[in-house]
Amino acid sequence: MKGVARITFYGGTGSVTGANFLLEIDGKKILVDCGLTQGFKIADDINWDPFPYNPAEIDILFITHAHVDHLGRVPKLINEGFRGTIYSTEPTKALARPMLDDTAGILSKNRNFDLDKIYTEENISLSISLWQGFKYHDKVTITENVEATFRNAGHILGSAMIEFKYNGKKILFTGDLGNSPSPLLPDTEKITDIDYLVMESVYGDRNHESRNDRRKYLETVIEDNYKRKGTLVVPTFSLERSQELLFELNDLVENKRIPVMPIFLDSPLAIRLTEIFKHFKTYFNETAQKAMSQDEHLFDFPGLHSTLRSEESKMISAVINPKIIIAGSGMSSGGRIVHHERHYLPDPNNTILLTGYQSVGSMGRLIQEGVKTVHITGEDVVVRAKVVTINGYSGHKDSDHLLEFVEDTAETLKKVFVVMGEPKSSMFLVQKIRDNLGIEAYAPEKGDIVSLIC
Ligand SMILES: [Zn+2]
Repeated sequence: MKGVARITFYGGTGSVTGANFLLEIDGKKILVDCGLTQGFKIADDINWDPFPYNPAEIDILFITHAHVDHLGRVPKLINEGFRGTIYSTEPTKALARPMLDDTAGILSKNRNFDLDKIYTEENISLSISLWQGFKYHDKVTITENVEATFRNAGHILGSAMIEFKYNGKKILFTGDLGNSPSPLLPDTEKITDIDYLVMESVYGDRNHESRNDRRKYLETVIEDNYKRKGTLVVPTFSLERSQELLFELNDLVENKRIPVMPIFLDSPLAIRLTEIFKHFKTYFNETAQKAMSQDEHLFDFPGLHSTLRSEESKMISAVINPKIIIAGSGMSSGGRIVHHERHYLPDPNNTILLTGYQSVGSMGRLIQEGVKTVHITGEDVVVRAKVVTINGYSGHKDSDHLLEFVEDTAETLKKVFVVMGEPKSSMFLVQKIRDNLGIEAYAPEKGDIVSLIC
């Protein structure tokens, strides 16, 4: 007997962030991701509109991974009546708590929308109490006709693609897709037999520089900064990128590839998340597991200082150069990095190293694009520091690899929905899928509804 599944695209359309998709399947209402829309702020005001569906009617929420643009609105969903179950992988569940706590800490300062009444300890605890963690490839029975499976997306620790099987037809939501090979994680799993695909397109229109050279490039940037006796400032996402960098630095320091100098991990969130990474070593790739058999402390090495308290953070400026500071947020939109940038950007001996995606309008994007002055906490700050970008550490597949990913299942694919990208990126990938693979593809707009025959 044939069935119809319906997807409504409520978020992650025309934008990288704010993933939120409603899947209506065999009588169940299922959400995939419930993220924050982020631009130059951690959360755009658009996030605080009421949900366009009734959260109390949602049966299950699947979370693909622990980035805030995929789970940041879970407390709001709870606040508006959601009491269903939340499913994710085990690491995503473990990472969710600190990620939500951190988000609450930042958002509750916003008095305009009463966010302190939404991002409460009670709503966050309730979220976690409804949450169940699974291993990759575990099957979740949803109805007698529908089951879901977590597939490894290789994007961050615990990141998953969610595959729904209904009457033998498969619908796959990719979440974010990793830029495999990652220093720490296994490669994105190959997918086959998929009928309908909802996929990300952050780098739909661009390719990354070679990943093979990234560690060498990092080494060069560090050495150059050392010679110029500067401070190397690295705005870094607390989740995954910080741990990847620690892993790379650990290797460079332990093998004496770079001189020993003070390296500060100046992010309470990154410090907390790194502890969680240590509990999920079985989720690391073979190389990292092998490295661990020789060096138990993959994220710790001589010269590393984890500065948890703000008094410790303030002391960093008194430490003599050369030194390295890794701090959040990754797009310089808040957090301790902002203070470091105000302090270090005006000096041409310093370097600012960008290793991640910088969204349009973010401070990081402005710096990356070469503006001469930035506005930080009410002050105009001149940018004289050297600005370097290493794209090889990107956590997202680039254009060619996104196409390759689709190609693996081209034979069975009926339709591809390209989401979670800036419009230019998504449209480019849509065209590429149509032209190269001859598969029907399109980039849905917010509120679009599609019916899939299953
Ligand atoms: Zn992500």
